[in-house]
Amino acid sequence: MATLEIRDLHVSVETENGTKEILKGVDLTVKQGETHAIMGPNGSGKSTLAYSVAGHPKYTVTSGTVTLDGEDVLAMTVDERARAGMFLAMQYPVEVPGVSVSNFLRTSATAIRGEAPKLRTWVKEVRTAMETLQMDPAFAERNVNEGFSGGEKKRHEILQMELLKPKIAILDETDSGLDVDALRQVSEGVNRVRETGEVGTLLITHYTRILRYITPDFVHVFANGRIAESGGPELADKLETEGYEAYTTKGGASA
Ligand code: ADP
Ligand code: MG
Ligand code: MG
Repeated sequence: MATLEIRDLHVSVETENGTKEILKGVDLTVKQGETHAIMGPNGSGKSTLAYSVAGHPKYTVTSGTVTLDGEDVLAMTVDERARAGMFLAMQYPVEVPGVSVSNFLRTSATAIRGEAPKLRTWVKEVRTAMETLQMDPAFAERNVNEGFSGGEKKRHEILQMELLKPKIAILDETDSGLDVDALRQVSEGVNRVRETGEVGTLLITHYTRILRYITPDFVHVFANGRIAESGGPELADKLETEGYEAYTTKGGASA
């Protein structure tokens, strides 16, 4: 079973006012088959964690390690990360002019599997996955992310996850901007992939509402650039009623 290990990760960005440390020692282990939720206030560094693992050039790892089965993820190119079995939903946030969803998915699958999927079975696979996500078949011919609505972007992420079958998936704010129906369909997609037992998922979110549809095995509270507390699903219930205040004031300005 694949294991993603993040150890004492410190990450900085360059700002107009100099170097700013955003991640201040993140420790986290995600195993294939597990579902983890990272929850925290806006600005606590959740997306920075996702971008850093994805290898976004803006984020400089100043110390710490990220490994997948002992292999140094931070030394891998973005392609190598995908081939190693990592799916990072924010990896392709940009529009890809002239490349259809269908071609994009097949190219990605080819890169990951090491050979092109047979066209006939592939077309069927894509169609079935799109049907279960209640996506319009015409969507497959649209250009990647071009004019996608928030909901379409998220469905496209889950479609990729269903088809590419990663070992570790990091989904950042998959629930934001979704109406109730889309949230349910996207959650069902995540749950289907989860039921295979083949994927370890890191679900990053600000709101607890997606956790009504997806019950995580572990919940981590993220505050001020690190994990402040870890627990089971009951921690999400506590956050829903009490919010993040206890974590943002602790040792902060009020101390
Ligand atoms: P979250 O996803 O938890 O809302 P982010 O990781 O987006 O938090 O941001 C954490 C902090 O780092 C914020 O104060 C944000 O302004 C800052 N930050 C993130 N990315 C950059 C960047 N590229 N340049 C400057 N500051 C950044
Ligand atoms: Mg440290
Ligand atoms: Mg964010």
